[in-house]
Amino acid sequence: MSLDLKSLVRTIPDYPKPGILFRDITTLIEHPEGFKESVERLAEAHRGLGFTHVAGIEARGFIFGAGVAIALGVGFVPVRKRGKLPGTTIGQNYALEYGVDTIEIHADVLSNVHKVLVVDDLIATGGTAIAAVGLIRRTGAICDHAAFAIDLPDLGGADKLRAEKVNVSALMA
Ligand code: 5GP
Repeated sequence: MSLDLKSLVRTIPDYPKPGILFRDITTLIEHPEGFKESVERLAEAHRGLGFTHVAGIEARGFIFGAGVAIALGVGFVPVRKRGKLPGTTIGQNYALEYGVDTIEIHADVLSNVHKVLVVDDLIATGGTAIAAVGLIRRTGAICDHAAFAIDLPDLGGADKLRAEKVNVSALMA
């Protein structure tokens, strides 16, 4: 396992709006060895720690999170945008640059006998991941680890998550 995973991520300027440098992970997951190694490395760092579930954040967190759940032999919990889950849900609001968004999980999936690893493709300001951790903790489940393919450290999200007593890891910065 020695691929330069960062070289497989493409940066697209001015997406979704002018001035943003968007890290495009589709080029990483289109690369068979790059995708496999990404998932294996995310899983390896979290083996043997007693996780019962991986919670993947919609939508790109599903891609990596599902692979990590399979590799760890645990269940997968989708953390979805509001209104997408069919059963009874609990939700958590979080601030966007303009406005508020809501993420949800099924209300009956987690409890205080569970330990959950949060997975997403990228952490920027940390708002999404902090909301996901908070939502999961409200169920009584332990949630003190989060793993990302990419950390954008200049935006401070990983440090904010660590301040919430979450162990943060990323494959690249
Ligand atoms: P945050 O809440 O940390 O500011 O933003 C992280 C969320 O926005 C993640 O769910 C991530 O998928 C998405 N995101 C923000 N910027 C980027 C980017 O440059 N590339 C990708 N792939 N996702 C991004």
